[in-house]
Amino acid sequence: MKILVVEDEAAMNAFLVQALKSENHIVDSARDGEEGSFLARTNEYDLILLDYMLPKINGLEVIREIRAEKNSTPIIMLTVRSELDDKISALELGGDDYLTKPFSMAELSARINAVGRRPKIKETKTLSCGQISIDPENFSVHHRGKSVNLTSKEFSLLAFMVKNQGKVLSRTKILEAVWDINGDPFSNTIEMHILKLRKKLNDKKQKIISTLPGRGYKLEAPRV
Ligand code: CA
Repeated sequence: MKILVVEDEAAMNAFLVQALKSENHIVDSARDGEEGSFLARTNEYDLILLDYMLPKINGLEVIREIRAEKNSTPIIMLTVRSELDDKISALELGGDDYLTKPFSMAELSARINAVGRRPKIKETKTLSCGQISIDPENFSVHHRGKSVNLTSKEFSLLAFMVKNQGKVLSRTKILEAVWDINGDPFSNTIEMHILKLRKKLNDKKQKIISTLPGRGYKLEAPRV
């Protein structure tokens, strides 16, 4: 396999490169997020090992940049235990797996083999509503042909609404689908996210996402 290692700690980086080479992989390495993202986007790799805490841009941002270019190279995140929440975000953002430091070479090899066994071309189903199109595989959203930059929660919310376009979605339904069981139904989280989505979709007149007082929200293609 051709593998990209993105890890800023010199000793860890050298260890991974050496160990992978000794298992007959072809290895490139980067020491910061910017270089890692650049290499990932300009070369063809079979796998990327990506540290989370990186200089210049962090691992999550690197995933976002890679996936934004419709690049579906498998990514294994390397994290430390305290970054648990970020691991979840990494998976939401399109990382394929993660390993908690410290890990043994045997563990890493097992994960690499598992990723290698996965079918390389996954079916990509684009969701759309009017001029909005969503590519769930690559975490990208386009509106009127322009790329829209969303946070992972905004993305999940929009994807859920597009999947259920034309239906009235109650706050409870949205909360269950997009937030976890700890989501507080009385907080204004949903309102805040709807507000941000409208802003990013330039939906000032609420023609895309409408509010139905006391019932919820509805997303539909604006009538021209
Ligand atoms: Ca690091």
